[in-house]
Amino acid sequence: MKANHLKCALGALVFSLLIPANQVSAKETPVLDYCANKSTGNVRKVTKGLCTQSEISLGTQPITRPKNRPSDLVPQFKARYEVAKVAAKLIGHTLTITSGYRSLAQQQILFDRAVKRNGSVTAATRWVLPPKKSNHPWGIAIDINYRVGGAKGEKAAAWLEKNGYKYGLCRRYENEWWHFEPLVAPGRKCPKMEPYAS
Ligand SMILES: [Zn+2]
Repeated sequence: MKANHLKCALGALVFSLLIPANQVSAKETPVLDYCANKSTGNVRKVTKGLCTQSEISLGTQPITRPKNRPSDLVPQFKARYEVAKVAAKLIGHTLTITSGYRSLAQQQILFDRAVKRNGSVTAATRWVLPPKKSNHPWGIAIDINYRVGGAKGEKAAAWLEKNGYKYGLCRRYENEWWHFEPLVAPGRKCPKMEPYAS
């Protein structure tokens, strides 16, 4: 009995050594994904298999706050933005992130400045959320073309407002034409805009 157990354990060990970890995970084929072509920005729904090498996965869900505080934008959110940027460029719009990930300390500085500028915490909060509430320090918010590119920059952001849903990107607030978040699954309708952050 004991010898048999040992044999089994050894067998399992040899088996696990023979199959590298990456091959094991490649077997877990996703049943659904949205893949965007890196050079055209075209998105296709994949119900079996993986995105090709010329594509990037956009996922299938809204992107929510990660478990732990990140130190950059959440990668899939960044991927969504990058392909939207490619698609925009093809029709002459330039998208630039003017503010993306912010540390809690950076967000605090911006908030303190906004309080000074707007005269009260309540008024400031309509434009800049305090560190604990903002999605910028969670890596799931970007500001596009803010004070960059003038009217052209605003027009490009308006393009993203109209077409961002294809990539799962939405403008969130009525008073901030520049602020976008990954609020929906790719291809899904964006929720009604909130009047302002609060
Ligand atoms: Zn913002």
